[in-house]
Formats: sequence, C-alpha cells, structure tokens
Amino acid sequence: MKKITVIGTGYVGLVSGTCFSDYGNRVICCDIDAKKIDRLKNYDIPIYEPGLEPLVRKNVERGNLSFTTDISNAIQESDIIFIAVGTPMSPSGEADLSYVKAAAEMIASHMNSYKVIVVKSTVPVGTGRMVQKLIQEHIGERLVSFDVVSNPEFLREGSAVYDCMNMERAIIGSTGEQSADIIRELHAPFETKVLVTDLETAEMIKYAANAFLATKISFINSIANLCERYGADVGHVSEGMGMDSRISGKFLQAGIGYGGSCFPKDTEALRYMSQQVDYDFSMLDAVIQTNEAQRMIVVRKAQDLLGDLGGKTIAVLGLTFKPDTDDLRYAPSLDVIPALVRGGAYVRAFDPVAAHEAEMLLGTERITYYRDLYEAVEGADLCLILTEWEDVLHMDLARVKELVKQPKFVDGRNCFSLELMRQRGFSYRSVGRPDVDGVLV
Ligand code: NAD
Repeated sequence: MKKITVIGTGYVGLVSGTCFSDYGNRVICCDIDAKKIDRLKNYDIPIYEPGLEPLVRKNVERGNLSFTTDISNAIQESDIIFIAVGTPMSPSGEADLSYVKAAAEMIASHMNSYKVIVVKSTVPVGTGRMVQKLIQEHIGERLVSFDVVSNPEFLREGSAVYDCMNMERAIIGSTGEQSADIIRELHAPFETKVLVTDLETAEMIKYAANAFLATKISFINSIANLCERYGADVGHVSEGMGMDSRISGKFLQAGIGYGGSCFPKDTEALRYMSQQVDYDFSMLDAVIQTNEAQRMIVVRKAQDLLGDLGGKTIAVLGLTFKPDTDDLRYAPSLDVIPALVRGGAYVRAFDPVAAHEAEMLLGTERITYYRDLYEAVEGADLCLILTEWEDVLHMDLARVKELVKQPKFVDGRNCFSLELMRQRGFSYRSVGRPDVDGVLV
C-alpha cells in the first residue's frame, strides 16, 4: 500500500488516481477547482467516462480514495506525488507549462520528507529536469530529498478506465534506481510491460507515440483522397493493409482526421520542439497540414450535394472528437459548424452528452442543439456525421428518412456500408469511397 497524491483531477488524474486506489493504495486526488472537488465528494463525476463512477464510489467507500483542494496537506501526507495537470497548447504551438510549474512550486513549498515526484502530464523533453531544478531551488537550505520521475500516460478518453486497468505498458523515466523501483512496484498489480529509461527518453516516447499515430491517420486520409480520385474504396484498402501485422489496421480508418485534447496539441508541441533545435521535421508539418485540410472536406461535400448552403438546414450528428467522451477540445465540429454557418446554413446539432457544452462554445446563432438524434434530423436538407456515437451507428434509417426533408448524407466517419445506403435510397458521400446515389427499392 502506497500513499499517493495526484495533483490535477482531470481525465488523466482522476482515472489513474482511481485505478491506483483500486489496487489498495491510499490516493488523495486534489485540484484547484473547488467546484470539481465538491462534485466528486458527492460522487458526481465531472467528466463523461464509462465505468468511472462505480469505481470512484467503491474506493471512496473503502477509504482508499479522497478528494481535496487542500494540496499542501495532501503533499505532506503522501510519499508519491503525481503531477497530472493540463499542458495546453500556447498560441506558438509550444506546450504551456505554467500549471506544471505551479504544481512543482507547491510541492517544493510543502515537502516534509522524501518524495517521488512523478510527471504524468505530457511535457516537452527537458521538463523533468526543469521540475527537478525548480524544486531544488525552492527547497533552498531545507534538508528534504526527492526524485523526479517521468511516467507518461497513454489512456484514451472513452475507454480510460479499461485502458488504465489493462495498461499495455508503463514507461518510467528516472534519474535513479530508488525512484524507478518505487514506481515499478506501484505498477506491479497491473501486470504490464515496463520500460525503465532516463527522463528525456520517457518524455520523448510519449510525443513520438502520439505523432506516429497522428501520422497513420493523416497517411490513410491522404490515401482516401486518392481513392476518391481513382474510384477505389479506402475501407478495403485499410483492411488489406491492416492484414499485414507489421502495419496493423489500428488507426487506419479514413475520416475527418484527428482531434481531441492530445494529438493536435502534442503534434504542435513536437513541431515546436523541432524548431527549437533547428531540425526540419517536414514529415510532421505534412501530418498537421493534412489533418487541418481534411476537416473541411465534409463541408465541400455538403456544398456539392446541396448546391448552395444558404438557407439550408443541416443536421450535424456528433460533436465530440470521438464517441464515449464529453471532451470537445479541438473537436472537428468546432471548425465544421462555423464553416456551415458562414456558408448560410442553419445547423441542428446532435450530441448525446456534449450538446450543452457545445452550446457554450459555439453559441446559438443559426444553431440549435439536441440530445435526441431524431429531433435533430427533423426537416434537414442534409445529415452530416462527425462522430460515430452508438446512436449514430445504430440509427433507424427508415425513421430518419421519414423525418428529413431530403435523403442526403455526408459521413465523415464512414459509418455505413455503401450497399445499405444505396438500398435505403440515400445520396451518400463518405470519405475515400465511391459516391452513392441511392434508388428507392
Ligand atoms: P484536464 O484539463 O482534464 O485536467 C487537468 C486538471 O488539473 C484540471 O482539473 C485543473 O483544474 C487541474 N489543475 C491545474 N493546475 C493545478 C494545480 N496547480 N493544482 C491542482 N490542480 C491543478 O487535463 P487532462 O486531459 O487530464 O490532461 C492532463 C495531462 O495528461 C495533459 O498533459 C495531457 O496532455 C495528458 N494526457 C491526457 C490524455 C487524455 O486523454 N486527456 C491522455 C494522455 C495524456
């Protein structure tokens, strides 16, 4: 049983803290956001993450998990302190480390005994050393020792609890054996593969992994765009490529590109890191540019199907960057919907969990929001799929056809087979696959 404090109770801190507590550790999750902590104390989970609420409840009731805004006390009570605060994108593309620095200063001010300080946030190479130096400077003459470890997180929103409990690997970057052993031991119950390395390498692994996955997505999207021009079907191209175990079919689904709180910011941060050392990472530039362009392809397809967007009603189905999350950070919908509105369209936006949050971000001018898909499609000239929620994948197409004004679909996620849409009599445009202009049978 280890005594752990997690600073930053967001998607990463809350999920990983809860999972550590489930393995018998005593975990204090803290945050500067008092509202968030109050909600958590009442088992009201501030993020949408399947399976999280019962796990939080179970471990709070067992006395293994608690929530507080009293960060100083939490630091003193624990031996291992995780920093899991946000590292958002600055306007220059650089990762904003102000929250990490604030957390490190807080730790330095309240440290009363040996601590292992684990940076779980995604941070540029060199941050672990910076944290080490910053804490050392703050400690001054006080006789307290500490080690800094890098332990990047790889969970995916929407399956975060599963990913954490079934961790594929733990990367432990450390400056010494003692701290590496403590963090390795902490991961023993997860029965996962462990790689122990130095701080800089661990930090680079996280960026390299995310940039590589982003590269796969931009690559298959470029192939999709070629498929459209040559009349090939990217769905089968991906399937055929994925049969090669060296390639694997994962992250090879063509669509509107990557979004979310990690890939856009981490690819930009890696690009910034490259620029800082005068390295021309042109492949990464292309990955980012391809992704930006890919988002607008569905708008062009909508224009092609409708002629002019002016005065048309478009039902946008799905607003989050992927299903099973309420996270709207860098979601394609945030670019696509304003583009539709600029073109003169009225948007009926559907999302089962993030409709309210989207309204806060996008406003209500020419946009109405729905949590029910069938209400959203009523009277639509076109349905535009941005997120493959279960409600979208399993929608009753016959009912939709009765509700819409025109049976037209643009599908940014390739949710349906071409044959099905042809049989159902829809005009259907997807990504990297032949057009369908269905005939009602
Ligand atoms: P988040 O924004 O959901 O949560 C961060 C939390 O930190 C917030 O609740 C905020 O109030 C809190 N915070 C900020 N400063 C604080 C301070 N000084 N003391 C206490 N709390 C503070 O962020 P997230 O999505 O959990 O991401 C955290 C880090 O993990 C980022 O670096 C991110 O890149 C990385 N990461 C995220 C994911 C993901 O899927 N979200 C996956 C892997 C890695």
